[in-house]
Amino acid sequence: MTDTSIEAREIDRSQMRVSDELAIEITDMNKWYGTFHVLRDINLSVYRGERIVICGPSGSGKSTLIRCINRLEEHQSGRIIVDGTELSSDLKNIDKIRSEVGMCFQHFNLFPHLTILENCTLAPIWVRKVPKREAEETAMHFLTKVKIPDQANKYPGQLSGGQQQRVAIARSLCMRPRIMLFDEPTSALDPEMIKEVLDTMIELAEEGMTMICVTHEMGFAQAVANRVIFMDQGQIIEQNEPREFFNNPQSDRTKLFLSQIL
Ligand code: ADP
Ligand code: MG
Repeated sequence: MTDTSIEAREIDRSQMRVSDELAIEITDMNKWYGTFHVLRDINLSVYRGERIVICGPSGSGKSTLIRCINRLEEHQSGRIIVDGTELSSDLKNIDKIRSEVGMCFQHFNLFPHLTILENCTLAPIWVRKVPKREAEETAMHFLTKVKIPDQANKYPGQLSGGQQQRVAIARSLCMRPRIMLFDEPTSALDPEMIKEVLDTMIELAEEGMTMICVTHEMGFAQAVANRVIFMDQGQIIEQNEPREFFNNPQSDRTKLFLSQIL
């Protein structure tokens, strides 16, 4: 664990309220890559305001699951409903889903030939049809929020990994998402940069964002998550609130996994 600093930080839970309104509903969902059955009978309901951490061994299907939620991957059976819209092959409003569901990846995925500001304004201008000036104002607002407004005119390659990941988060926020998905956002970072990214994620949680985070930062899970989900071999093996999850894991696979990472 690298994030002992989280424990020292006072976390404001006043806005972290889980509502009874569904943000995501996944029912009996299965996915195959060719003949490989990668996700098996996934059932998962996510309510607005939830902060969910997904953990599990490499190859267990964590990335595939969250990529299905914004349709970077297609599922083959069962249902996925995001913000009231069912994801299906005849989905016409994929842009709507993508703008409501922000995603941050392990490797940032910024456009290297665009400035930080241009990275942040591209989708709002082209997908949301926001006027350029307004998009730039919004971008500066979120770059200030992630504490790097002074980097706006630089290119991604001129920034540290931690700064690039914060740009990626700001870029997502510029689309005004109602849900944020994170896929191991700190795994590619040097230890000294992990905290600045986790702090940004904590701030989002404090503001009430619905979040699903694939991460092995268990300090973050304990401090911020309201639910921790353990996956193995394409299945959700168990899920619980963090204290129970860590202190009283039920399945042998969860126990083994936790013994390896804690
Ligand atoms: P995790 O994020 O938990 O490490 P992934 O969702 O990335 O797991 O992958 C789950 C399994 O699916 C792994 O066995 C992986 O090799 C396989 N896989 C991932 N992406 C593809 C793909 N595009 N085509 C075929 N197999 C894939
Ligand atoms: Mg992964």
